Amino acid sequence: MTAEKNTFYITTPIFYVNDAPHIGHAYTEVAADVLARWHRARGEDSFLLLGTDEHGEKVLRTAQANNSTPQAWTDRLVHDAWLPLLETIDIDNQDFIRTTEDRHKRNVQRFMQKLYDEGFIYQGAFKGAYCVGCEEYKNKSDLVEGSGEYQGQEVCAIHSKPVEELEETNYFFRLSQFQQPLLDHYNQNTEFIAPESARNEVVSFVSRGLDDLSISRSKEKFDWGIDIPWDDTHITYVWFDALLNYVTAIGYGEDESKFRNYWPANVQVVGKDILRFHAVIWPAMLMAAGLPIPGQIFGHGLGRSVS
Ligand SMILES: [Zn+2]
Repeated sequence: MTAEKNTFYITTPIFYVNDAPHIGHAYTEVAADVLARWHRARGEDSFLLLGTDEHGEKVLRTAQANNSTPQAWTDRLVHDAWLPLLETIDIDNQDFIRTTEDRHKRNVQRFMQKLYDEGFIYQGAFKGAYCVGCEEYKNKSDLVEGSGEYQGQEVCAIHSKPVEELEETNYFFRLSQFQQPLLDHYNQNTEFIAPESARNEVVSFVSRGLDDLSISRSKEKFDWGIDIPWDDTHITYVWFDALLNYVTAIGYGEDESKFRNYWPANVQVVGKDILRFHAVIWPAMLMAAGLPIPGQIFGHGLGRSVS
């Protein structure tokens, strides 16, 4: 942050709209709003971003289970449940971005294309497990022995449900290349991940080595997501899409002066269960795109939600 920068940009994880909110969803927003208001009171141009994460297999399945289309389902949830929650708890946010908006989709594609053109994305064979509940690829070490009706099967440690075995040709992001740059960044910016316990967890995770990350899903399985710009038989992995909301909301790709005014974010507040996405994958994506890294990823003790 330079001395003349008088902005304070703070984000919270965008809500995953497979269901209606409960009071736990308000926690991060209230904490971030307090911080944003304090900076505003000091005369800073304080910008709090909120939004909704609307793609992914879980949203599609939930919409289908409710005899709806995913777009109609998310439209209804956003307008009838999520925006009213913000009214109720009186959050003073400066923008609210939905990942189904064109301003988000076209600039996610712009970002993807840039990484692809510069060699950070390649096509490869994916074989492994995927938990739809987590919307996350799982390693063996993330799985546990199931019980009850899932006795004898391996299940997601968080959801206690069987994972999907995927075998697809996907696009991969060269995350492994960023192990050392990330460790260097953590070392040189000791405040980047807070609190200390969160920092220690991430440093030890990255020190063990990083695998390249599958960032697409074949449309043969499901198609509720943003098309890969150079291959319309694939959609973008929902987390790669969702993380980019923090930059598409402030003009990445099309409003350079607004973008430079607010980016990098001063603080990004996240729940502990999504710390790795924000403190490992996200800064690596930004490094690959040649963009500055946020000042701090703050991981609070609660999960993003219990749904
Ligand atoms: Zn899971």
